[in-house]
Amino acid sequence: MNSATCTSPITVTPDCVIGGPEIVLIAGPCAIEDPAMLTLTAHAVRAAGARMLRGGAYKPRTSPHTFQEHGDQALEWLAQAGSAAGLPVVTEVTDPRQVDRVARVAHVLQIGSRNMHNPALLAEVAAAGKPVLLKRGLAATIRELIFAAEHIQARGNDEIILCERGIRTFETAARFTLDLTAVPLIKELSHLPIIVDPSHGTGRRSLVARMALAGLAAGADGVIVEAHPDPDQAMCDSTQTITPAELASIVESGLRLHAVLNPDSLESSLDTHSLTLAMQA
Ligand code: PEP
Ligand code: MN
Repeated sequence: MNSATCTSPITVTPDCVIGGPEIVLIAGPCAIEDPAMLTLTAHAVRAAGARMLRGGAYKPRTSPHTFQEHGDQALEWLAQAGSAAGLPVVTEVTDPRQVDRVARVAHVLQIGSRNMHNPALLAEVAAAGKPVLLKRGLAATIRELIFAAEHIQARGNDEIILCERGIRTFETAARFTLDLTAVPLIKELSHLPIIVDPSHGTGRRSLVARMALAGLAAGADGVIVEAHPDPDQAMCDSTQTITPAELASIVESGLRLHAVLNPDSLESSLDTHSLTLAMQA
């Protein structure tokens, strides 16, 4: 049923392979707020089973009247938090001039939804020689997402992780409409791994776990979620941010679901997870 066998895995670190037999959870705050909260979050998401830490240093905020960003300083905090917790890190690049600085710190460079159509940024990020997390534009078709990936591939970088993060439709009850059809369709059209972002995809923390699992049921190689030790206090995207305990429950259920849908990897995945948690205890 699952066509993951045609996906080319991307090895971020030996413990974090995206598009291989195991699912990968990526978690962390929307924005990097300060070094202490980030380090606390990094340890908490790792204990919950995340394999990569996310956090925005440069934030493409929709409104200019909300929390903006800590920029270069936050990159240093991200490097420190990731290394303290033993997790690779992913962070967004919003300007070609940031690429060198971000590539020195991040294991994966993120192109955000609002920049998927920015060829100058795609070209500069491609040249950094690091894996790229390419998020679908909020009004982009699946074909346009694949074309954006091909801009990166044309520059000699084939290590691209696609991300379905919700699109804008006539429906306004949730922040965006998480287009889960994109997941199995991209598995048919491309060899690139695809993950889902149920945080931005819904905008509501009560919907995040269900849509994370729905994404995995659709065949996603992983999930990226916004998590914070105290979500109500998060300075950015608080309403869609979950606790580390909720993340742990998504990891547990996600591994079980993945194992049921992929019986061949059942024992290995669950065993690796139990072993990792036992080693952290
Ligand atoms: C993010 O992941 O931090 C983000 C801003 O997401 P998106 O680009 O999908 O809106
Ligand atoms: Mn966010």
